[in-house]
Amino acid sequence: MKIGILGAGIVGVNTALQVQNEFPNAQISVIAEGFGNETLSSGAAGIFRPGTSFSAGNDEVTQKWITDSYDFYNQILHSESAFEAGIMQVSGYIFSSKSPSITKNHFLEKLLPIYRPAGDDELEICPSPEGSSAWKYGAYFQTMVIESSSFLPWGLKVFESRGGETKQRRVEAFTDLLGDGYDYVINCTGFGSKWLCNDRKLVPIRGQVYKVKAPWVKMFYYGDYDTYIIPGSTTVTLGGCRQFDSYKTEVDRYDSASIWDRCTSLLPSLKRAELVREWVGLRPYRDPVNSFNMGTCGYGVTTSPGSAIHATKALKELIRSGKVDNSGSTTAIMIVSKL
Ligand SMILES: Cc1cc2nc3c(=O)[nH]c(=O)nc-3n(C[C@H](O)[C@H](O)[C@H](O)COP(=O)(O)OP(=O)(O)OC[C@H]3O[C@@H](n4cnc5c(N)ncnc54)[C@H](O)[C@@H]3O)c2cc1C
Repeated sequence: MKIGILGAGIVGVNTALQVQNEFPNAQISVIAEGFGNETLSSGAAGIFRPGTSFSAGNDEVTQKWITDSYDFYNQILHSESAFEAGIMQVSGYIFSSKSPSITKNHFLEKLLPIYRPAGDDELEICPSPEGSSAWKYGAYFQTMVIESSSFLPWGLKVFESRGGETKQRRVEAFTDLLGDGYDYVINCTGFGSKWLCNDRKLVPIRGQVYKVKAPWVKMFYYGDYDTYIIPGSTTVTLGGCRQFDSYKTEVDRYDSASIWDRCTSLLPSLKRAELVREWVGLRPYRDPVNSFNMGTCGYGVTTSPGSAIHATKALKELIRSGKVDNSGSTTAIMIVSKL
């Protein structure tokens, strides 16, 4: 059996690993135009924190994706591969001056070992936002950061060591894959699906961040909706913004100024940070998320191992029954002979 995984971002790599676990004797290829730093995934801060509005269809499936993902990453975190895979434990705070609901997360409260309200003294750790005397609400929690810049090469190395192969190639239409001998192809092209599947429901939510060197920052900090400071192994990510249906891939200097101002207000020591680069990414947003792999929006790093397990089960069922269940208009799994 020959299986193609189209896309080599976090969704493609996690899907390739899961499919390989399930079908160890299959010939599996990851086919993608861009690998590693050429993917959207490589720029994400990679914090394990789903948004409270994220939905994989219904509450049960959504919680399962998130729990399966957490278990997958947590297992690597406690193994000798943690460093090479770019996975580390982090803890920190989310503060709000507006509403206690901003500091809550029903997915994580059920899952993480520590997720608790911040005490009064903790609400004073960061300077309060302009116009108020202190942060009103806060929570402290412990989670993980998964840096795709390390995870993607590590994941593909594991995949190749088990006999998988990678092919650099742009696919203009799924029919391009006819003649390559694949029995099944799983589409993991992220925002690329907009063009490949002509999916009007897939829209970008533009994000912009700074990557800075500030090795003294060891915890993450969120302030209300869109201000975040997330440490990685070599840089700290400062964000951000969420701009619906914006296709602008250049750095916007007004966004830069706003992010810098908000992050240095939240953590003044960042004024001494050394700028490494600025980065813009288009989050692939889809309501609803397609069957498993498209429309992960701002949470693809968090949810992709779980969605990959789900996709692998669907492939198994497809092989058994011969029926494709592609709910949503973006094609997720294809029987190549039927293209
Ligand atoms: C600023 C910002 C911060 C973020 N922070 C986080 C975070 O902290 N935590 C989190 O969980 N998520 C975060 N995200 C979201 C996360 O980055 C995405 O959900 C995730 O990267 C999507 O992964 P993907 O594999 O679907 O897409 P991609 O990484 O874009 O990969 C798509 C792959 O498909 C290939 N491809 C596309 N079209 C074609 C084609 N026609 N032919 C061949 N190959 C093709 C590409 O080359 C690539 O290999 C953030 C996003 C942004 C913008």
